[in-house]
Amino acid sequence: MKTPSGLVASPYSTFYSKTNTFKNSLAKFCISPIETILCLDHKKSMFCQLLTGLLQRDEVVRLGSIFASVLERTIKFLEDYWRELCCNIRTGYLRDWIIDPGCKNAMSFILTGPNPELADLIQQICEDKSWEGVFKKLWPKIKYISSICTGSMSQYIPLLELYGGGIPLVSPSYVSSEACFGINLKPLSNPFDVSYTFLPNTAYFEFLPVNKDGGGKAQETRTIDKPVDLENVKLGQYYEVVVTTLAGLYRYRVGDVLKATGFYNKSPQFQFVERKNVVLSIGADKTTEEDLSKAITNAKLILEPFGIMLTAYSSYSDTSSTPGRYVLFWELKMKGSNDLPKLDARVMEQCCCIVEESFDFTYKSFRKDGAISALELRVVKHGSFDELMDFYTSKGASISQYKPPCCLKSEEAIKILNSGTVGKFFSPKTMS
Ligand code: AMP
Repeated sequence: MKTPSGLVASPYSTFYSKTNTFKNSLAKFCISPIETILCLDHKKSMFCQLLTGLLQRDEVVRLGSIFASVLERTIKFLEDYWRELCCNIRTGYLRDWIIDPGCKNAMSFILTGPNPELADLIQQICEDKSWEGVFKKLWPKIKYISSICTGSMSQYIPLLELYGGGIPLVSPSYVSSEACFGINLKPLSNPFDVSYTFLPNTAYFEFLPVNKDGGGKAQETRTIDKPVDLENVKLGQYYEVVVTTLAGLYRYRVGDVLKATGFYNKSPQFQFVERKNVVLSIGADKTTEEDLSKAITNAKLILEPFGIMLTAYSSYSDTSSTPGRYVLFWELKMKGSNDLPKLDARVMEQCCCIVEESFDFTYKSFRKDGAISALELRVVKHGSFDELMDFYTSKGASISQYKPPCCLKSEEAIKILNSGTVGKFFSPKTMS
């Protein structure tokens, strides 16, 4: 897009994909032809990239995207389009809705003739009701999945682990359009325990100490001291990261809260904690992204014995009536299929209770005093969060850098999830 003064502005991944550096280096390690990567229509791009990956299944050693949200979207796409992909492989013809000349031309070198044996094999794999370990079956030489799955992306870990069937899930880096902050020097570590080692040569980094003693409230996440540089970071302390870059940012507050976990030589290592100020809020209560994520992680455990998976979530503070309440949106599916699970009201209400129990003292006391109403859980149908992603990308968000908003502010976004709602559940009116 163009800024009001006529400068071209784009997310970093868009800019980078168009450079010769990408063309001459990383692109050469990708199975997907560059024309399919650069195709502006993401449906056609995704279709051609998956088709290439299936046709050259023995060449694929790594499945990756910058953020895990894109891999989740890719899985959904495969679930919806595997029959059509098989049909293309069986007949050797590319579907006629792929009209992009770059994609058509690139695919003509890959889809060179009918291959019914391969189509049968893929069909057999995808027809299996359970897609557990499906990546390993489709791409037998796959060694690992590479995608950022810390912070708000951690909600996709269970899904990627299920479909990976034991393949390591590597969260390689901590990056943003402002700067490349750090890399993961222990790629095989548990995705929930990843620390990133800062790269001192990519920007000038400073760290604002913030008051947050693990599970602390958002109102306590505030600056408590002067910024320190890389060498003066203290282990165990929480910081907000500040960058000064060659591109012209001066002491820019990125808005991420990190926890110092170690050093590699003199370079500090950090765990990503949360985006600052992403909060649910009613009155004086503020619930942070981290509080919400922990509460939901606790609550969804009770769905596991029923074979139910939580594939995406979001929330908002509903203050349309008094007292207001927090509303959660959950997209659920059965482990082996995309079918909407049978929703047992008692179990879902228990989920609401566990979320509330996991919130902190302030929330619970407000709830007991009646200053906040019972938490509401809205279950949405399969694909609702895709619609949300489509909405944000239509407004200019980059699909490859998309972060699922864990707390919604936009009326339109709330409307989208409301229209996909298939069940509403509440915790008990009064909290014990
Ligand atoms: P953008 O520049 O729009 O792609 O967004 C960069 C933001 O993505 C960062 O400021 C973080 O909030 C988030 N992010 C990037 N890398 C990671 C990571 N490894 N873990 C968690 N969040 C990340």
